[in-house]
Amino acid sequence: MRVYCRTCNGTGEVDCTYCNGTGNDETRLLPCEEPYMYEPCFYCGRSGKVVCPECHGSAYIEDAED
Ligand SMILES: [Zn+2]
Ligand SMILES: [Zn+2]
Repeated sequence: MRVYCRTCNGTGEVDCTYCNGTGNDETRLLPCEEPYMYEPCFYCGRSGKVVCPECHGSAYIEDAED
């Protein structure tokens, strides 16, 4: 049976582990004086979220229990 994915709490997405959900690549500061001008995170595209690896975005997983 299908059960609610607890990894993403049913949202189908989780915080990007590369940028910790900020959406910014903090290792690549743009040549700008403003402190918040970071390059967008290449991993999530500045959304700060990535597709849940557990349910692949479906928000549900197959419970193997028989
Ligand atoms: Zn990211
Ligand atoms: Zn999930």
